[in-house]
Amino acid sequence: MAYDNDNIFAKILRGDAPAHTVYEDDHTLAFLDVMPQADGHTLVLPKTPAANIFDIDPGALGPLMCTVQTVARGVREAFPADGIRISQLNGPAAGQTVFHLHVHIIPCLEGRPRTPHATNMADPSVLAEHAEQLRAALDRLSGA
Ligand code: 5GP
Repeated sequence: MAYDNDNIFAKILRGDAPAHTVYEDDHTLAFLDVMPQADGHTLVLPKTPAANIFDIDPGALGPLMCTVQTVARGVREAFPADGIRISQLNGPAAGQTVFHLHVHIIPCLEGRPRTPHATNMADPSVLAEHAEQLRAALDRLSGA
């Protein structure tokens, strides 16, 4: 699939659009989803431009999944969760709406349905608070 340099995640990666960033290293960036399916719903992206799983250099997948594990540990620590859903969508038919590869990390609670995918915009001040909670948890886990 052709990569659109103006997709919203490309803009966030360039610093041309805001995000509640919780983690960054040389290869990956993680920030909160603005329309979360649950409190703490976080997205992890490779920095390399790739629309989906089929387009990315396989060498970039290791660093991506390492960050997914790191951030998922932080999400589990910072938000109430009986389980953590980790998902990744490829193509509109699969529900993908932003065409820069990303992995969803979503805390799940027994008996509590998730908000439907990409529907309700969260209050920015709540997202800022949640991002702070998650950054603090990641710092604790890394011993920083
Ligand atoms: P997809 O449907 O492509 O798997 O997921 C895209 C996700 O990006 C959705 O969960 C949606 O809520 C989220 N999203 C869409 N636009 C923005 C944005 O501008 N900023 C952030 N942080 N998340 C976004």
